[in-house]
Amino acid sequence: MGEMTVDVAAVNRPETSSDNIYIENVSHGYRGRHGTVIALEDINLVFQAGEFTCIVGPSGCGKSTLLDLVAGLQQPLSGSIRHGGRIIDGPNEACAMVFQQPALFPWMSVLENVVIGPAAHGISRRDAEERARLLLSKVGLSKVTGAFPHELSGGMAQRVGIVRALALDPAILLMDEPFAAVDAQTRIRLQDEVKALVEESGTTVIFVTHDVGEAVYLGASVIVMSGGPGRVISCRPMEEASNDKRSSYFVETAAEIMDMLLGPGA
Ligand code: ADP
Ligand code: MG
Repeated sequence: MGEMTVDVAAVNRPETSSDNIYIENVSHGYRGRHGTVIALEDINLVFQAGEFTCIVGPSGCGKSTLLDLVAGLQQPLSGSIRHGGRIIDGPNEACAMVFQQPALFPWMSVLENVVIGPAAHGISRRDAEERARLLLSKVGLSKVTGAFPHELSGGMAQRVGIVRALALDPAILLMDEPFAAVDAQTRIRLQDEVKALVEESGTTVIFVTHDVGEAVYLGASVIVMSGGPGRVISCRPMEEASNDKRSSYFVETAAEIMDMLLGPGA
């Protein structure tokens, strides 16, 4: 691909809103025995409020690190991240996270796993339970609200993980390869469920995946990163036709992004 500069701000619509997430000149690394490993180098991105953005890139290019920075779980070595009119310099309360494994509390029922977050944030037990039941019904889990995590399939457990995050009504939902551990058919259903849930709630979503088709299908924009050190090599809005996996737009866009990931001569 050679040297490539992407004017992400120009591609990524320039409207300003304090609800957007602004990543400005961010570099980050980890200190080790052999000096600092640069994980992210000079990242400039705007995540539009209420938009679903997908990130694809090779293992180790810093995708999880970027989510950590947005969540305020780590501070960048240089540059800044802004959201809600302030620089993120500590845990960002606006964020909820979903990982590959949902890490449910094994001693709590499905319902309790969902209710505990909002209840801890001061929502009344009654309201938290009502919201939990509604969200669980939207992902087809009404019949298992009393079940325990070990009784669930991988797909069901991940649905609980997603509902648990959304039950907090977060402004930002960070999803780090959330469907990597479920089977292909479940994955397709989960994609549509998540799409419907966040469309309804207006949540800003940053969704990391290895699956290019998933990124094109779900994302209103797709960011492509390269590794060693992690950089943004492309950021493009998706057209409406990306919602149709059989459209030529979908197939061509996925192929173009795959080519970017594989690099020249692939
Ligand atoms: P990705 O999620 O894209 O696979 P990561 O953000 O996990 O990438 O990692 C980016 C780079 O930073 C990798 O080289 C990884 O080895 C390194 N790294 C990530 N977390 C740590 C850590 N806690 N300590 C040291 N190095 C880390
Ligand atoms: Mg990762």
